[in-house]
Amino acid sequence: MSKMVYFDRVATALMAKEAVKAITEFLQVPVGNPSAHIHSAGITAAKYIDEARHKVADLVNAKDNEIYFTSGATESNNLAIKGYISGKNEGEIIISEIEHYSILDQVRTLSSLGFEIKFLKVDRFGMVNPDDLGKLITSKTVLVSVMMANPEIGTIQPVKELAKVCGHKGVVFHTDATSAVGYIPVDVTELGVNMMTISSQVLGGPMGTGALYIDKKTILKPIFDGGNQERGYRPGTENVAGIVGFGAACEMIKTRLANESVRLKELGNKLWQGLENKVEHIEFTGHPKLRLPGHVSFWHKFIEGESLLLHLNLKNVMAASGSSCSSNLKGIDEHDLRGSHVLTAVGVPEEYCTGSITFSLDYCNTVDEIIYVLDILPGIVERLEEMSPVYADYIKKREQNG
Ligand code: PMP
Repeated sequence: MSKMVYFDRVATALMAKEAVKAITEFLQVPVGNPSAHIHSAGITAAKYIDEARHKVADLVNAKDNEIYFTSGATESNNLAIKGYISGKNEGEIIISEIEHYSILDQVRTLSSLGFEIKFLKVDRFGMVNPDDLGKLITSKTVLVSVMMANPEIGTIQPVKELAKVCGHKGVVFHTDATSAVGYIPVDVTELGVNMMTISSQVLGGPMGTGALYIDKKTILKPIFDGGNQERGYRPGTENVAGIVGFGAACEMIKTRLANESVRLKELGNKLWQGLENKVEHIEFTGHPKLRLPGHVSFWHKFIEGESLLLHLNLKNVMAASGSSCSSNLKGIDEHDLRGSHVLTAVGVPEEYCTGSITFSLDYCNTVDEIIYVLDILPGIVERLEEMSPVYADYIKKREQNG
């Protein structure tokens, strides 16, 4: 296929044309610094931010003044956790064992500062159990953070029940909804969460922009010192163009979400069934039903995820291996060497934890692209199997056993 087949939405969706248009138009307007309330150029910029804030709030049924813009999900996660525990010297923080590194690495730092970190276990589908959370919470627990949907294996957590458990015990609950908002309907009021991380890029907005929803009961301290932007929670001049694009993407996705999630689910099912029928030696990961629509993830018993991805890329198909945002082909960093903590948590044998593939589809993808991928994938897998010493070993043993 000459056209790029892009199946890596959990890392970043392709920018929606609505976002591109809104940013392009904005960039032609002479605006000042949004904090310069004294002149109209500044007031115009602030108005653009307010309008975008309304669109983000509207998508998740929040109030406008509960949305705080940040530079993205990593910063939102840091603001939520560090901002909430700031001023406290000790206590317990509970997170699931399959959180993104922007949570995991933070709690590691906090543990060295004296906080106790407890991990909520997941089952083989990557699902946490609200009853387990209830048992983990003690009078020392200050904060719980569990992601809404996992980008690597697609599983959607029972966030409403988790928030309820925390509510009953008087503990603040944060959810990293980076991979969920824009994929599935998310309503903060119905869910009862206190804080929620939202990413622009996963829903068709620009990269490097995001937001943190904070309900009115939850009080944070800013993690940066500086100005009074974002009502003091996020000092520093706002990325106005990014925020405008983020707002436009939220507005677009809101009108399409109901139809899109049905369409994506059908495409995902077609891909899943096709893989099941056409490709041997794979194991699917994540929950078979309670998962992001259009998200299909698996690992192969004999070949490495990255080899498969490189070959797919030669055929113009782009997907992810392991954690969407930590794969680093240019250099090896600590995260890559660790393999996937998510796969380890769901019980995938350690030797396969670098071998997973994640296809995450979005509103640009079509059924023809699914057919194309199902057409080329078995051939690629066969060629890679032929080059795999582990596969050769397997065949030898199979022949010996008759
Ligand atoms: N949380 C989750 C669940 C993610 O998948 C990611 C990466 N897309 C992040 C946080 C961090 O996002 P960013 O790199 O945009 O800050």
